[in-house]
Amino acid sequence: MLEIKNLHASIDGKEILKGINLSLNSGEMHAIMGRNGSGKSTLSNIITGREGYIISQGDILFKGNSILDWSPEKRALTGIFMSFQYPVVIPGVNNTYFLKAALNAKRKNAGEKPLDAAGFLKLIKEKLKEVDMDPKYLQRAVNEGFSGGEKKRNEILQMLTLEPSLAILDETDSGLDIDALKIVAEGVNKYRNSERSFLVITHYQRLLKYIEPDFVHVLIDGKIVKSGGKELALELEEKGYSWLES
Ligand code: ADP
Ligand code: MG
Repeated sequence: MLEIKNLHASIDGKEILKGINLSLNSGEMHAIMGRNGSGKSTLSNIITGREGYIISQGDILFKGNSILDWSPEKRALTGIFMSFQYPVVIPGVNNTYFLKAALNAKRKNAGEKPLDAAGFLKLIKEKLKEVDMDPKYLQRAVNEGFSGGEKKRNEILQMLTLEPSLAILDETDSGLDIDALKIVAEGVNKYRNSERSFLVITHYQRLLKYIEPDFVHVLIDGKIVKSGGKELALELEEKGYSWLES
């Protein structure tokens, strides 16, 4: 699904990623853990194609194709989705309109017919139930005036609607109380299957109690310094990160 090879990247002349290697097969859930500032959001931004980074070495392959020169739109249409650490507010753009336009763009790209208003409404109502969101949020501008937790649920709603094959969740747990965390985790767990992969980024072990990763990687100063199974998350909870720092 995703292969990152010796990725080096910088922003504003500062090298942030210093040789990342990572392979995700379909059906797998990988967690990336690390302190603030270790480069986690940089890595996810680069996978989704955000501008402003200079990639000096390495490659990113998605389903076997190098995507480094693909636009963010092309990456999204091909099945890469990201839930942002700080979800953006889009004033003046109605949430239903946004989701429907995004879904229909994807359907068009896949050679499918667009959903009409009634078809979309039926679909979105089912998805809303899965994240326990009130339909009133559909009528609001995207994330405008949403609390932290509501924004994160809205991100998961987007994921469930767009059905990506690779979902990157950047600190989806931050700002969630325990009930919202469980709902988000349930949404993610229901979405898991053998054809979908997840990259879950977090610096707390808390989320990984509810979303069990197959692999855990520790990112320190732009490098993956240790990889293991889900037990590594527990070890980090107990010992912190300092034992891995050189
Ligand atoms: P994390 O998500 O792990 O907390 P980030 O990827 O956000 O870390 O940041 C990694 C490092 O890159 C930090 O030192 C941060 O200050 C730096 N950084 C991120 N964005 C920029 C930017 N636009 N300009 C300069 N430095 C940046
Ligand atoms: Mg971050």
